Amino acid sequence: MKVSLQISCDLENIAALSPVGEDFRWYLKFKCQSCGDKSEKWQYITQEESVPLKGGRGSANLVIKCKLCGRENSAVLLLRQKER
Ligand SMILES: [Zn+2]
Repeated sequence: MKVSLQISCDLENIAALSPVGEDFRWYLKFKCQSCGDKSEKWQYITQEESVPLKGGRGSANLVIKCKLCGRENSAVLLLRQKER
């Protein structure tokens, strides 16, 4: 499942708005894909971190184990900057 995050803002005297570096931390709130439990706190995802997935399914930038149902949720950050 791909979730897109769109940001729009009015900028004055700024040509572009973009994350700087692979260690840029996106703080987001996540929801378990199995039971729907929502995280109370902000958790960050960054391209810099890579966690191997169980069963040789590659790797993800974030792996969270749900406290309620125990499912491991994973997320990969895909960045694309839209030019104005
Ligand atoms: Zn869950």
